Amino acid sequence: MRLILLGPPGAGKGTQAKRLMEEHGIPQLSTGDMLRAAVRHETPVGLKAKDIMARGDLVPDDVVVQIVSDRIEEEDCRPGFILDGFPRTVAQAEALEAMLHEHGKDLDAVIELQVDEEALAERVETRARESGEAVREDDTVEALKNRLSVYRAQTAPLIDHYAQIGKLLTVDGMQEIEAVSADIRRILSEAQNEKVRAAG
Ligand code: AMP
Repeated sequence: MRLILLGPPGAGKGTQAKRLMEEHGIPQLSTGDMLRAAVRHETPVGLKAKDIMARGDLVPDDVVVQIVSDRIEEEDCRPGFILDGFPRTVAQAEALEAMLHEHGKDLDAVIELQVDEEALAERVETRARESGEAVREDDTVEALKNRLSVYRAQTAPLIDHYAQIGKLLTVDGMQEIEAVSADIRRILSEAQNEKVRAAG
């Protein structure tokens, strides 16, 4: 199964991706985690990405597309994967579609975690202020504001993009973690049944 989790920073994509990974036995591919590892190891990609990430801006499309393209070629991705934090632009979405089609593969679904962005921003800003020191370099109030505005400008258009190609499934991400997981399980199985009906 090939899935994308879509939603603003702090919506719970990472948490739900990990749960899906355990349930379906397929890897979670977080471009944020991969880029943070590159920064830690001071690789050429890491050196390029460090300041961009600290500001909460997007790393250039060609850099992340290359990272994902290399990663999905690996053996453990053969049965599928959960993309968390990628694609973040329409250009990345198109590159992903081209990559998959080249291998005769397709996406199963894009799960949008719908959240109240106001409440989310407040929650994360309070956390950044109260912790004194940021948990992540980009968890400062300024970087977070920027990450949200980057999301609205560059990533939110993907919601329409995936709705138009009939791949979008939306869940209420403001619920408790367990309830969000239950909703995801339900809509995925409904989508699967629908596919079987359409094929039969
Ligand atoms: P995340 O952990 O997904 O919130 O990502 C942290 C940061 O990594 C983002 O704010 C971006 O700077 C960078 N990043 C992660 N994924 C992407 C992507 N698909 N495209 C561009 N930049 C990304």
